[in-house]
Amino acid sequence: MDAVLSSTRLRALYGSSPLEHIKTLVIAYLLLKQTLQVYRHLRARGVIQSVQDACKWAVQEVMLLALRLPAARRKVDTELGKARIQIESKMIAQGPGVTRHLALPENGKTPDWILHEMEKMDAEFDNHSDWRDGKISGAVYHGGEDLMKVIMAAMERYSVSNPLHPDVFPSVRKMEAEIVAMCLKMYNNPNGAGATTSGGTESIVLAVKTYREWARAVKGITKPEMVIPETAHVAFDKGAAYFGIKTHTIPVDPITRQVNIKRVARAINANTIMIVGSAVNFPDGCQDDIVSLGQLATKHKIGLHVDCCLGSFIMPFLEEAGFPVKPFDFRVQGVTSISCDTHKYGFAPKGNSVIMYRNPELRRHQYYINPDWVGGLYASPTIAGSRPGAILAGTWAALQYMGHSGYLESCKSIVSAARRIAHGITEEIPELYVLGNPPASVVAFGSNSADISALEVGDAMSRKGWHLNGLSRPGAVHIAVTRLTVPHVDEFIADLKDSVREARFAPPGKGTMMTLYGLGSSSPVGPRLVGRVAEMFLDTLYKA
Ligand SMILES: *Cc1c(COP(=O)(O)O)cnc(C)c1O
Repeated sequence: MDAVLSSTRLRALYGSSPLEHIKTLVIAYLLLKQTLQVYRHLRARGVIQSVQDACKWAVQEVMLLALRLPAARRKVDTELGKARIQIESKMIAQGPGVTRHLALPENGKTPDWILHEMEKMDAEFDNHSDWRDGKISGAVYHGGEDLMKVIMAAMERYSVSNPLHPDVFPSVRKMEAEIVAMCLKMYNNPNGAGATTSGGTESIVLAVKTYREWARAVKGITKPEMVIPETAHVAFDKGAAYFGIKTHTIPVDPITRQVNIKRVARAINANTIMIVGSAVNFPDGCQDDIVSLGQLATKHKIGLHVDCCLGSFIMPFLEEAGFPVKPFDFRVQGVTSISCDTHKYGFAPKGNSVIMYRNPELRRHQYYINPDWVGGLYASPTIAGSRPGAILAGTWAALQYMGHSGYLESCKSIVSAARRIAHGITEEIPELYVLGNPPASVVAFGSNSADISALEVGDAMSRKGWHLNGLSRPGAVHIAVTRLTVPHVDEFIADLKDSVREARFAPPGKGTMMTLYGLGSSSPVGPRLVGRVAEMFLDTLYKA
């Protein structure tokens, strides 16, 4: 009775029940929150791009609906079926001479049989390219017989080791710590902290995870966002997808190919955990303005990850090698982490990279610790549990074998070769232009001319035995120069001139680059269809 009375009195006083008041407050709060989200989104993307995105999305949805119509679906299925046959015929050896090993052999085979069978498998693919020819972008970075012997000896010696058990394999623990220390020294942060990982992707994914945990613990951020240049490696998107982080992808300046700093600044908000710069980026080998990014990171007290996965053992040697270089390492205020791939220009065996942090406190957010597991106290620094100690031994051996002077020498010859390629394109091939001003080992070229597609040129280069990388937005092609490509620079430029000529007269759209990247941008549903082709490609990887 009292309650009813007081509630009536309240209603008389305020004109509505307290419950309704709370309801109004909650609605207002939710509206405000939504508005803030929309506002931040608009601020980061800009009104024009947001409208464009919305239109693109709408067109794409309509076309996807249209593709569901039986006739359209049949057509798509037929085309995808053709693509599947093409992919499989390229990747899977066929014919009467091909043996498939689909179940365990009843009894174990002899070592001789095993090696002989491998020889047979290698011969099954008569058309596969030999990396020793020096016509492949990236992939194998050193390839010298001498270094390979050193790495193999180290890996053999530690073939059963596992750094998960430092008490059983103490020297493997020591080697890992020393690999990290050597990289920290190279990047001018000897008192920092780091870890080795299975590759650049794991280093980047871990950095993303670290900043997510750090931001939650230190800044109370529960809806994390990050801001990355469109030229940043896709591993950042992968990390964001794994860990549920919203990303704002910021365009680069079309001339300098550096991320637009003003747009980065606009995209930062109270939920931002990290921003990203590359030194150098994968697509065109250019370097972002790390100093300006550092200022933004300092001002907003957020993380700045500099991706030196590709720059690895080239960037730190540029200055001493006499090439111009802008600041990129821990000497730049605001840089809080750097990834460096030992398995690229560090010439380590594949499966090794280093993630470095400004200080040990930040690295702690990378760890996974579970004291309650039935299997015992579990603590691991990276994603893997068990890890191959052999790779660490191989990496340590490569670093010791090369030494400072070895890397300096390789920096000089590789970067000189890349500059000769860039110079050759600029001076001798008017139909093509170099993207930005790449400071290190990667050179990308686009087309200046309306009747020549750079991707078509890339396909013509493939027919001459080159394995280059196709890029989109703009359609372009890059080469990452390695020690193996250095002696082939003149051949590269000569072949490129021929390819430009061929691309001018060729009927368009038959090569792989044109199919993949041309299709991707020729229609709003292109990316979705290319995605289906990519799925088929991945399925094919596991076809025995
Ligand atoms: C290669 C590369 C990565 C990823 O490295 P993986 O070792 O392939 O996982 C990241 N960033 C850049 C710039 C790269 O070139």
